[in-house]
Amino acid sequence: MPRTDSLIQAAHQDVLRWEEEYFPVLMENHRKVAAAFSRHRVSQDCFAGSSGYGYGDHGRDTLDAVYAEVFRAEDALVRVHFASGTHVLMLVLDALLPPGSHLVSLTGAPYDTLTNALGLRGAGPGTGTDRGRQSFCGERGVRYTQIELSPDGGGVEEQIPPDATVVFIQRSRGYEFRPSLSVGEIGALCRAASRRAPGAVRMVDNCYGEFTQAEEPLEEGADLIAGSLIKNPGGGLAPAGGYVAGKRHLVERIAERLTAPGIGRHVGATGGDWMRLLYQGLYLAPRTVSEMLKGRVFAASLLGALGYEVSPRPDESGRDTVLAIRFGSARSLEVFVESIQGASPVDSHVLARPWEMPGYDDPVIMAAGTFVSGATSELSADAPVRPPYTAYLQGGLSFPYTRIALEQAVLRLLETP
Ligand SMILES: *Cc1c(COP(=O)(O)O)cnc(C)c1O
Repeated sequence: MPRTDSLIQAAHQDVLRWEEEYFPVLMENHRKVAAAFSRHRVSQDCFAGSSGYGYGDHGRDTLDAVYAEVFRAEDALVRVHFASGTHVLMLVLDALLPPGSHLVSLTGAPYDTLTNALGLRGAGPGTGTDRGRQSFCGERGVRYTQIELSPDGGGVEEQIPPDATVVFIQRSRGYEFRPSLSVGEIGALCRAASRRAPGAVRMVDNCYGEFTQAEEPLEEGADLIAGSLIKNPGGGLAPAGGYVAGKRHLVERIAERLTAPGIGRHVGATGGDWMRLLYQGLYLAPRTVSEMLKGRVFAASLLGALGYEVSPRPDESGRDTVLAIRFGSARSLEVFVESIQGASPVDSHVLARPWEMPGYDDPVIMAAGTFVSGATSELSADAPVRPPYTAYLQGGLSFPYTRIALEQAVLRLLETP
């Protein structure tokens, strides 16, 4: 296979070039984490965990302080009690949007699961999860305005309503074929929002964005960020959870939503052995994110060379850990996702097949052979099976494994008529 050999070599060269450029970011993120661990005196007793109410859990409180410092926040709340990224984002909105308030998205439609949770999409009767679903915005009387991202970022400011309560910015592409936002672009949106709607809370869905740059959104004028621990900041080790970081009075409000008013952050048992994984995961996260990004550059280069449209291209500075690939045919898409599953450390023998997922209009095919169930910090791919047959590839804790998976996928794609 001389043809694939030379494509693989070329893709690897792209990775080496990228790695050199990225090295200052990698160093800066490691410096931030190292300084935070040292300043907050992380010690063995932080890993002990707690039971029952979890009062006085020193490890839990210290981890909050470490996250706050890494993300340049006044305060942070890092909890395994956040069931998912959607849960933490939804709790934030629930805490910040009283009846009659106004939610304004500056980056088009929010991520699928959040759009559903907010009740922004027809919640018709049907599948099990739809039945009995509440519409958050409808029931609470929260108005919703959606501003579309324009390619040059122009025209957004004039559209921001002055009575906005929360302006919502999604950093990652999520599952759209659009570029992710840089922290600089998020800063520009935050400044526009503060000019037009000075009273609004500027909130960023930070999923898939952490550690892809040397700055984080709070440094550029966001008030609050939130994300999932089974994506970037958990370093592949965090077994579950989410975080929120930003202005102290806002973090306190979210803590009271997570538990109860008057109790807030002071309860929440952390179990027997999960705390060490949260700490060690954050410690490794700058490194694992760089492994994910290397995998993304490699995949973009290799699949791009085979003629598939990819976003971001290897020479574009993608600001998240996701690669979108347009396969153009259902067969190629399925072959690709099947081979990613086949190269996974867990369930490599399981054949990924399209299935009717509750809440989706088209069948969805997923490769998720991960140690932590559903973790997209680990190499995974998923796609709704519909034209133009776009797959989203993300994660990968160690670049050589990602390269092996892609080498196998490309061979299978070339064998597919
Ligand atoms: C993954 C993701 C979410 C939701 O996180 P889950 O843990 O899957 O619920 C929200 N927004 C963005 C941009 C994401 O990538």
